[in-house]
Amino acid sequence: MKKAKAAYLLGKRKFVIDEFEIPEYGDDEVLIQIKAIGICGSDVHYFLDGRIGDQIVPEKFIIGHEATGQVVATGKNVNSVKEGDRVVIEPAIPCGKCELCITGRPNLCPYVKFLGTPPILGAFRQFIVMPEKNVVKLPETMSFAEGTLAEPLAIALYGIFLSDFRPGDSVAILGAGPIGLSVLFCCKYGGAGQIFVTELIEERAEMAKKLGADYVLLADRVNIEKEILHLTGERGVDISFECAGEQETIDQMINIAAPGGKSVIFGIPAEDRIFFDPHVVRRKQLPIISVRRSAFTTEKALLMMNKSSLKLNSIITHKFPLENIQDALEMVASKRNGVIKAIIEP
Ligand SMILES: [Zn+2]
Ligand SMILES: [Zn+2]
Repeated sequence: MKKAKAAYLLGKRKFVIDEFEIPEYGDDEVLIQIKAIGICGSDVHYFLDGRIGDQIVPEKFIIGHEATGQVVATGKNVNSVKEGDRVVIEPAIPCGKCELCITGRPNLCPYVKFLGTPPILGAFRQFIVMPEKNVVKLPETMSFAEGTLAEPLAIALYGIFLSDFRPGDSVAILGAGPIGLSVLFCCKYGGAGQIFVTELIEERAEMAKKLGADYVLLADRVNIEKEILHLTGERGVDISFECAGEQETIDQMINIAAPGGKSVIFGIPAEDRIFFDPHVVRRKQLPIISVRRSAFTTEKALLMMNKSSLKLNSIITHKFPLENIQDALEMVASKRNGVIKAIIEP
């Protein structure tokens, strides 16, 4: 059996590079050499805390789920891809049989296997076997690194669908990390009216401007709520998107939404409890929409990235080899060095 390298997370904040056996592939599966993996906010939570809520990483575990690669071999029933094809890996393997899968919400499947979420080993490694259904061809014009953005962009797009966003809507995006910037990209592409983005870090605020935000507000310099209400004639925005996972941004999300508007939470709070003012929510009759990963939006996300004149791949600021994954995660966790999206190239 041939061996390859993987980065194992040992509990909290410690990676080791170790060998693993390249797995056998079945008749409906594809063996892929991984070329690039994006570091996601959820990976950072596993790295720092060893858990997200009750999902706890085992003692020696591989995280990572935003991956692209090249097909090395295919099972005998596989016909959508062949050896040498460049592909994006769709990290969710839903059961396909339960009520939620049948009714078109496989992202909520209770039996879903998701790469890098315990107990399913993730993508920070050199080779992986995936079902044929879980690979999507990468457009020729896109690099492996750029292709990794399809996963977070698919989540942004799915949240946009859930919000019933319409062209002309005014939106506020609270937090300009990779998800916030992906939401911005979708809003811009989809023809939003006024777009407000708030952020603490200057490089990210700059990126939001570059990707077409009308107003970018630095959260430590202005009163976000006052400013956005002022700029919308005290009305508020049609949709507020929370993309930071902080109590402060959740409060802002509610206070800057227009009466009859909507709020969407993308952020993953580190805490197990967050709070909001029920009276404001009730008076505005404000739906608060949660987004769980994505469903049926990966190919659309790829198409959008490929067609748009705005280049989402400018959010990729750093690339690291697998051996330097510890440094990469430390940098992303501390948001140092102007990092927005960091990529591992194994
Ligand atoms: Zn992700
Ligand atoms: Zn299911």
